[in-house]
Amino acid sequence: MNRNLRTDSIILKSRRIGELHKGITILTKSYGIIDAIAYGAGKGKSKLSGMVDPFSLLYMYLYYNPVNDNYKVSDIEQRRIFPGIRSELPKFYIASFWSELILKTFSGGGESEIIYPLLAESLTELNTAVKEKQTLILIQFIWRYLGISGFRPDIEHCGRCDSMISVSESAWFDERENQIICNKCKPDMKMLKISFGGLKYLRHTVKLDLNKSMKIGLDSKSAETLKRILLVIIQGIVEYPLNTLKNGLI
Ligand SMILES: [Zn+2]
Repeated sequence: MNRNLRTDSIILKSRRIGELHKGITILTKSYGIIDAIAYGAGKGKSKLSGMVDPFSLLYMYLYYNPVNDNYKVSDIEQRRIFPGIRSELPKFYIASFWSELILKTFSGGGESEIIYPLLAESLTELNTAVKEKQTLILIQFIWRYLGISGFRPDIEHCGRCDSMISVSESAWFDERENQIICNKCKPDMKMLKISFGGLKYLRHTVKLDLNKSMKIGLDSKSAETLKRILLVIIQGIVEYPLNTLKNGLI
């Protein structure tokens, strides 16, 4: 086992340990999720204090202590910080939701190689996003995350009759089966409608890099409905309430 790790990291959460220290949970680019202790980071004078707050992009030097069976932070280089996320509550809650989602659903293995850049780019976009774009970056993150984790519903075909949903059609979200269904198959029960604009938006933007996708707009009503549907899908996957959703923060 390599006792010294050097890795790009994003802080998912941090907590105080007594007066002086902080415990952090980080998403690393190559080693998945790691818990570490930043000794002295709770004290104003330490170099590490102020650097171990959530969502900063850092290059970390970690040392594995086999006696205590934990990692300690030896040094940190700051790569990118996000004052916009720290100072604006709606952005902070979105970032907290992403962090909570990753902590609850991360399955390890090679997944962090894909999730790390997704989170890093999403935080970068969120940091400077104007209000109308905040819902879109949330949608982009979730849609891509669903793709990575294999839970993204098919939006090209009806989940019941398998017929193609054409680009000029709207569709319906069947919450119980986590699938999209066509107009012909929709039963009388109440379902969330995805406008054809919303469907077109998802189909088109998923092929683009995240920063390019942010240049594509969507009307606010379609965006709000997509957001609601995606949050329902997420809630179905996680199975128990995420704090950020339970408290209606996003
Ligand atoms: Zn159908």
